Amino acid sequence: MSLLDEALEELVTANRILANQGVVDSFGHISIRHPENPEHYLLSRSRAPECIEVDDIMEFTLVGEAVDPRGRDPYAERAIHGAVYEAHPEINSVVHNHSPNVIPFGVTGARLKPIFHMAAGMGCDVPVWDSRTNFGDTTLLVTTMEMSRDLVAKLGDNRAALMRGHGCVVIGKSVREVVFSSVYLEVNAELQFKAATLGDITFLSDGEVEAILKRRGPYTFERAWESWARRAGRPYEPAPGS
Ligand code: MN
Repeated sequence: MSLLDEALEELVTANRILANQGVVDSFGHISIRHPENPEHYLLSRSRAPECIEVDDIMEFTLVGEAVDPRGRDPYAERAIHGAVYEAHPEINSVVHNHSPNVIPFGVTGARLKPIFHMAAGMGCDVPVWDSRTNFGDTTLLVTTMEMSRDLVAKLGDNRAALMRGHGCVVIGKSVREVVFSSVYLEVNAELQFKAATLGDITFLSDGEVEAILKRRGPYTFERAWESWARRAGRPYEPAPGS
């Protein structure tokens, strides 16, 4: 199988997993940097992630121009993906979603922080980007490169950022890593709510997050990916390039 074919299959499985795990519903998307051309990325046409097939996946330049649209309509918010890839050469996969438990943390000033070891991939700080700060009253949809670059500037060196009144963006070096981080960002948000009703929370320290990320290897993501792929009705294949 070619690198491109592997990437397409990987992306279909990622979409199905994110839907099956409740990270995306009918909205939200995941992209992968093109394995043969780092100046392009792959992202589905505008369709619910649960329904996505290989033929839905389109190729885009980093500013979001479709290479061969063949009548397919792209996502309105694809600019988020290109802006991440142009700013972060080491990043190869991006998720944008509206996973329900993270939303309250974007609108209240309560900070989303890692509450258990599985969520260390979110890092110690998850900044909140507010579109109103620089763009005023909008639909909140991030439809331009200008808005996307502003969001990516807020993201900084972090691996996730919340979008006030909208959702979040999660980035990673691989599809499997970013799916893992997105699932556990949502789980962390739910657990943080529950813990907050019991009392003061002791979050992971910066040193603990660092130690966990240092120990974490591809096997961490593989173990999750295999079971999540099975649940989503997709075949398990070892990670591309492994
Ligand atoms: Mn959105």
